[in-house]
Amino acid sequence: MKSGIEVVKGDITKIEADAIVNAANSSLLGGGGVDGAIHSAGGKAILDECVAIRNRQGGCRTGEAVITTGGKLKAKYVIHTVGPVWNGGKSGEEQLLGDAYRNSLKIAVDNGIQTIAFPNISTGIYHFPKSKAAEIAIATVSDFLAENDSINKVVFVCFDDENYKLYQDLLKE
Ligand code: ADP
Repeated sequence: MKSGIEVVKGDITKIEADAIVNAANSSLLGGGGVDGAIHSAGGKAILDECVAIRNRQGGCRTGEAVITTGGKLKAKYVIHTVGPVWNGGKSGEEQLLGDAYRNSLKIAVDNGIQTIAFPNISTGIYHFPKSKAAEIAIATVSDFLAENDSINKVVFVCFDDENYKLYQDLLKE
């Protein structure tokens, strides 16, 4: 297992970390999947901050990230990033998925976050192929950790068996 990286199976809203990452959409107003789970577990304080960010900067573009309180969650912060919708792979999806992980980590560093948990961004409603997404997630996080020592733990929280197995296999290498 690569140093500083862990993989667990479960619900990201239950994770104790300085920050959890949300696979949000550009509106920042919530949605289904992990986004819905985070807003319903974390409560209104998260949505209030999302609305304030939206009013200030008009939401969040694909590949970018913003930060809010963790509200009622165990995590202190939620970092909302927008992964790409898979559209066959010729629309820059791979680069944009890497950007979503990288920009989430950058905002974490800027906020003094040491432990952070990611869901499998874009692999639900956005239909990014799971195997390719796992490779990009692990490579991007590994590269980032190699150059930054302020983050000491990154947890990949897999909700489904297929992702959990993919991450376990890739991280064994
Ligand atoms: P996207 O629109 O980025 O595809 P989804 O929320 O549909 O976002 O899915 C992203 C990933 O999050 C999927 O792999 C899905 O299985 C997973 N997921 C859904 N609910 C949770 C949860 N409570 N905790 C962690 N992961 C979750």
